[in-house]
Amino acid sequence: MRIVIIGNGVAGMEAAIAVREAEASWQITVISEESDHFFSRTALMWVCCGQMSHRDIEPFERDAYARFGFRRVRARAVGVDTRGHRVLLAGGLSPVPYDRLLIASGSAPRRGPWPGSDAHGVGHFVTMQDLSWYENEIHGGASRGGPPPRATAHLSATTADSPYQFREPGAELHGRVASKPAVIGGGLIGIEAAEVAVAAGLRPAFFIREEWFWPIALEPREAQWIGKRMGEHGVEVHLNHEVESLEVDPIGAVSAVKTNHGPYEADCVVIAIGVVPNTGWLANSDIERDERGGIVVDEALQTSAEDVLAAGDCASVRWFDGSRRPEQLWYTARDQGRIAGRGLLGNRSSYARGTWYNSAKLMDIEYTTAGLVNFDLERETNWFFEETGKVRSTTRVVSQDDRVVGFNMLGRRWDHTVLIKWIEERRSLSWVLPRLHQAAFDTELVPPLQAPGV
Ligand SMILES: Cc1cc2nc3c(=O)[nH]c(=O)nc-3n(C[C@H](O)[C@H](O)[C@H](O)COP(=O)(O)OP(=O)(O)OC[C@H]3O[C@@H](n4cnc5c(N)ncnc54)[C@H](O)[C@@H]3O)c2cc1C
Repeated sequence: MRIVIIGNGVAGMEAAIAVREAEASWQITVISEESDHFFSRTALMWVCCGQMSHRDIEPFERDAYARFGFRRVRARAVGVDTRGHRVLLAGGLSPVPYDRLLIASGSAPRRGPWPGSDAHGVGHFVTMQDLSWYENEIHGGASRGGPPPRATAHLSATTADSPYQFREPGAELHGRVASKPAVIGGGLIGIEAAEVAVAAGLRPAFFIREEWFWPIALEPREAQWIGKRMGEHGVEVHLNHEVESLEVDPIGAVSAVKTNHGPYEADCVVIAIGVVPNTGWLANSDIERDERGGIVVDEALQTSAEDVLAAGDCASVRWFDGSRRPEQLWYTARDQGRIAGRGLLGNRSSYARGTWYNSAKLMDIEYTTAGLVNFDLERETNWFFEETGKVRSTTRVVSQDDRVVGFNMLGRRWDHTVLIKWIEERRSLSWVLPRLHQAAFDTELVPPLQAPGV
């Protein structure tokens, strides 16, 4: 049996390992354009900050492919011939035949729609090549213990639309590293890109179109505090700023971000306006995609083509509210990869995402979310508490019809497994509040939350 997997991200690798654990003799080929080794995309920021090396964010030892008996193909797939059961590769490389195929090609950054978005010094912060570009811009090379970025960052046999192409740093044209970076787009990737610049001792400008930072996840009071904290760290936050164009200097490097409030000087611009399913390369293949480009899959992650599955950020799955879209999270990609692994083995099992959760650190502020938050604004009621004493935090418990459906917590650490259990037990607000301390996950020296009713 010949199993082929496109993508060595978390979805692809989980599937490959699931197959190998059950079938020692099957041929497993993993195709990846981006990198030789599986790495943790969520940790790109720590590399760029110089806190971790490139090697540190690889979850496996570098001999993993040899140990698992995976065949590695470092190449760009440019299509799937579903009738001939072959993956087509760029650069005239021989197609790779499969009996069963998994597409786990992840996300690509949404490209800037403005004039100047392709100038030198403009990039994204999603792929390994973006990391190399940004490291070059602000450090003049790898921040710590990495390969020389230009040497290994990309393949020659690729296509112009690939998100794994190396982008020319503006810094290189000017013969110096960036001194005035700007970030466009107020989401999680945007704040990480700004944080990286702060860690390099710079004062980035952060352009956010909305009234407050990250409106899909935060409410104004939460966002205001984060915005203030960003300012204290040296980020110049510009809310309600609509970008109109990127200005380019005579040698072709970006020189300013032009907004509806006027131009701002910038010698390096990170466009962080979201991600899209990385499936443009399937344009000429007869595999169904939705209007967002996500590969349409059924509950067993089977695509419209026989013997072809899809998993992770590129797959458009059915959500609990009946809609269909990709989930773009690390743990959902991992879980989908495991289900797809079973599918590759010929065992049909269903993917059903449980209650949502996520955690991150926004600058130095802990962030934990569980359940539905900012999802159905008309039906939601929020219990909100803000503390500004020794500990600074906000606690938000979201209810619908006297049933707690979500938690949004900043500044303190919470155990999401407890929060999820209460949501699934359909507890009421008056039941949850006096028990909230049971979900506290702070260290022993942090004084407990003192809020009315808690
Ligand atoms: C900066 C950043 C921070 C993040 N932080 C968080 C977080 O805090 N929490 C969280 O839950 N999620 C976070 N995410 C999202 C998370 O990283 C993704 O959801 C997850 O990595 C998706 O995994 P995947 O396996 O589906 O795809 P990917 O990791 O994107 O892997 C895609 C693979 O497909 C291969 N590929 C694609 N196209 C081709 C082609 N044409 N030919 C050959 N190979 C191809 C690539 O080489 C790569 O190996 C973050 C993402 C970013 C960018």
